[in-house]
Parts: sequence; structure tokens; C-alpha cells
Amino acid sequence: MNYSELLKNIYEEVKGLPLEGKVASYIPQLANVSADKFGMSLLTVDGKEYKVGDTDENFSIQSISKVFTLTHVMSLVGETIWERIGVEPSGNSFNSIVQLEYENGIPRNPFINAGALVMADLLVSKLNDPKKDFLEFVRKISGNKNIEYNLAVAKSEKETGFMNASLVNMLKSRGNIHNKVEDVLDFYFHQCSIEMTCKDLANSFLLFANQGKCAHLQDQIISGSQVKRISALMLSCGFYDESGEFAYKVGLPGKSGVGGGIVAVQPQKYSVAVWSPKLNKKGNSSLGMKALELLTTKTGMSIF
Ligand code: GLN
Repeated sequence: MNYSELLKNIYEEVKGLPLEGKVASYIPQLANVSADKFGMSLLTVDGKEYKVGDTDENFSIQSISKVFTLTHVMSLVGETIWERIGVEPSGNSFNSIVQLEYENGIPRNPFINAGALVMADLLVSKLNDPKKDFLEFVRKISGNKNIEYNLAVAKSEKETGFMNASLVNMLKSRGNIHNKVEDVLDFYFHQCSIEMTCKDLANSFLLFANQGKCAHLQDQIISGSQVKRISALMLSCGFYDESGEFAYKVGLPGKSGVGGGIVAVQPQKYSVAVWSPKLNKKGNSSLGMKALELLTTKTGMSIF
């Protein structure tokens, strides 16, 4: 497959499209990003790298970090995580609180904010130095020792994250948060503030295309069975109330973030990260989705 040529064609095609949507501004620091950035990085399991556009520029990974917390939590506590979080799509926006009350404080899945807050609580309980240890884990699976939290973004979300504060308090009142709500929120805002490039993201998701092994380390991070479970959740829940649309148009497991990033995986073949900051109404990158739809359409290859 000539991915170089393909990425170039996709880039030309999406660059000509109108830039629909809006850069996230509900976290004030995120509004500072230029809307016309676009990068796409594809890494194959046999170690080849293809890229186009702004692939070496750092951006805020936001909810993509939920895949890293799930991976870390599963490697630490295995299946017991499902006593506190479900595995069903929510059909609601990422920060919705409506189901949480009538479902007794058990979030529908780990990729909505309520589920991510329970995972943050688990990591605060399990890790010795939660923020430091989690950052080390992300550095390890991405193969980049220089990855950092963006403290201004974390602070900005702390000052405006009232919905996340509501969610964590609701969870606490139902007994599904074991630590102090401030500590859980602090961890969550930091995990979301991590900055990575398209290349770092593609690198760190390669383990899902590679049976749980990091290609750069040959380390087994999670089992093949855990790869299946996390990938199934990405496919059914990775895009909140747009997960059906993403599966329909792209046909790969993936995860988005309000920083405009999307990462997707073609099992046994490649991981691909795309970044374009303008978001559609569901909080997913408009051009990012389009680029990935073009990728699976042009290659004639998806998981189906
Ligand atoms: N930090 C963001 C929030 O909690 C993450 C949301 C996202 O990327 N979908 O609102």
C-alpha cells in the first residue's frame, strides 16, 4: 500500500473543504490554537512511518487520554474495573449527567467524562505518585520521554470545569469515588492537558494494532484479550453520541478529544492520528473524521 501518496491525496482533498465547526473554547486556553492546523501520521506495525502536514506540533490530547487511563487501569486491576463502570454506549454527550443519577452512579462506559472520573479515582488510589506515574506510563507507551502536562490548560479547565465537578460530586454521593473530589478532578484535568504530536499519538496507539505490544519496546503492555475489549469500547463509545456515525463512515476503533485530535487503529496493520482543531457539534474534529473516512474508503480497508 502506498500510504505516502494516499496521505498526500487526502491532505489535498480535505484542505479544499470548508473549515466547518468551531475550536473548543469552553476551556479558555484551548481557544488559542490556530484553526487551520492539520496533521496526519500513520505508523505500520512493521515500523514504517508516513506523515503529512503539522505532524510534529504538540496539541492538547484531552479525551484521547481516556484510552491511556483505561489501558493503565486494566493493566493494574483487570476486569474488576467493570464493577464500577459499564461497557454500553451512552447515546449522550461526553459530559452529560442525566443517566448517572438514575443508573445509581455507575457511568455507562469509560470514555464519557463520568467514566473517566471513576478511572481517575482508581489511579489516584493505586499509584504512589499518581500524576508522575501516569505521565511516565504515557511516555513509555509513546516512546517519547519529553511528553508533559500543559499546566496552563489544566489550570484553565480547573477554573471552568463546573460540569466535571458536578459529575464527580454525583459519583461521590453514590459511593463511586473513594478519594477526595478535588484530588480526582486535579488528576483528571492534568491527564486531559497532556500535549502530544500526531506522531506520538500514532506511536502510543500502535499497541492496539500489535496485540498489546509497543512496537518500539517489544514490551507486552496489555494482553490480546484486553486489546479486544478496549478496541471494542473505542468502536462503540469512542465518539460519544457520534460513535455510530464514526463506525459507519470510518469503520475503525478510535478516540477523539476536544483538542481536535483523533486516533484510530486498523488491527494488525497500522495506527493513525489526525489533528484539525475545528470541532463539530458533538465535539469531534470535523476534518479529522473526514480524513479518516477518506483513508478507509481509498484503501478499501476497515475492520469490516
Ligand atoms: N477535558 C475535557 C472535558 O472534560 C475533555 C473532553 C473531550 O475531549 N471530549 O470537558
